[in-house]
Amino acid sequence: MIVAMLEKATEEEIDAVIDAMVEAGVGVHRTTGQMQTILAGVGPTASVDLAKFEVMPGVMHVHRISSPYKLAGRNWRPEGTVVKFRNGVTVGGKQMVMMAGPCSIEDREQIFETARRVKGAGGSFLRGGAFKPRSSPYAFQGLGIPGLELMREAAEAHGLLVVSEVMEISQIEPMLPFVDLFQVGARNMQNFNLLRELGLIRKPVLLKRGIAATIEEMLLASEYILTGGNYDVILCERGIRTYETATRNTMDISAIPVVKKLSHLPIVGDPSHGTGRRDMVAAMARASVAAGADGVIVEVHPNADKAASDAAQTLYPDQLDQLMGELRLIANAVGRSF
Ligand code: PEP
Ligand code: MN
Repeated sequence: MIVAMLEKATEEEIDAVIDAMVEAGVGVHRTTGQMQTILAGVGPTASVDLAKFEVMPGVMHVHRISSPYKLAGRNWRPEGTVVKFRNGVTVGGKQMVMMAGPCSIEDREQIFETARRVKGAGGSFLRGGAFKPRSSPYAFQGLGIPGLELMREAAEAHGLLVVSEVMEISQIEPMLPFVDLFQVGARNMQNFNLLRELGLIRKPVLLKRGIAATIEEMLLASEYILTGGNYDVILCERGIRTYETATRNTMDISAIPVVKKLSHLPIVGDPSHGTGRRDMVAAMARASVAAGADGVIVEVHPNADKAASDAAQTLYPDQLDQLMGELRLIANAVGRSF
C-alpha cells in the first residue's frame, strides 16, 4: 500500500499514520520528497482497511498496490485456469463453449426439444433453472429436483453437460447427482455462506456477477470458493444495473478483458440477462467472444415467446443456429474455436 501525505502534513500526522500502519502489521518505508511525504507499506496489506487511513489527518490518498484477492489473482496461476469436464469439454483453453437452454425447466417436452436443438447448434452445456430466484414471489419458482431429473435425462440423451442454479446450501447435496456445473446467480454472488460451502465440494461453479457488483467484488466472491480448495470457478458477466433503461441491464463487455488481466479464472458472457432483449442477444454474444470471453451462456426455448420466465430475452432455436455460425467466425478470428 502507498499512503501519500498532504504537502502541509505535520510530523505528528505522519508519525500517527506510521504508527497505525505498524499496528496493522505492515512494514513502513518512508520517502520524504521536497513537497510531500510518501509512505510505502509492505506485508500483509490484503486485510488492511484502507478507508481507515484515508480519513486520518494529513493524508491525501491511499492506494493498494497488491490485489486484495490472492487465489483469484493472475499471479497465482499466470498460465490461466482450464476447467475440465466429462466428454473432454474444457472451459478456459482454446476451445470455447456454448451453454444454452431455457431460463427455467418447464416440462419434459420443452427440455428434450431444447436439448436436441442445443446439441444440433454445437452447444456443450444445457442450461436451465430448477430453483429460480424471481423478483416476485408470485412468479413461477421452478420445478425443483423433478425438473433437474428431466434435464439430466435430456442432457444425457444428447451428450450435453448440465448447468443449473443453486440458491441455498441445502440444495447442494440433492443437486450433486444432476449437475456438472453449479450456477450461483447474480442475486447470490455475495451469499458468502453458500460460496464457502461450494468451496468444499469438488464440482465446478459458475459465479455470475452481482447486479450491482464491481469486478473486484466479483473476484473477492470467487476467492470464497477458491479458499475452500475448489479451484474450478468460471466467472460470468451478465450485465449490471446502471442508470440506462434501454436494456434490462448494462452488459459490461469491458469486464471481460479486465478479468482476463486481473485473474486466471475463465469468464463467459451472458447476453440474455445482459440485454433482456431477444433482438440484442446476438450482438452482445458476438461482442463477448470478440472481447476474449471463454464462452457464452444464452437462453433458448422451442417456443421462446411462451417461456415461463425471461421470454423477452429468450432465443428461438433457429436464432441459436445462426448465432453459432457467427460466433465460429469470430472465434477463429481471435485464435479460438467452438
Ligand atoms: C438465470 O440464469 O436465469 C438467472 C436468473 O441469472 P442471473 O442470476 O444472472 O439473473
Ligand atoms: Mn433467466
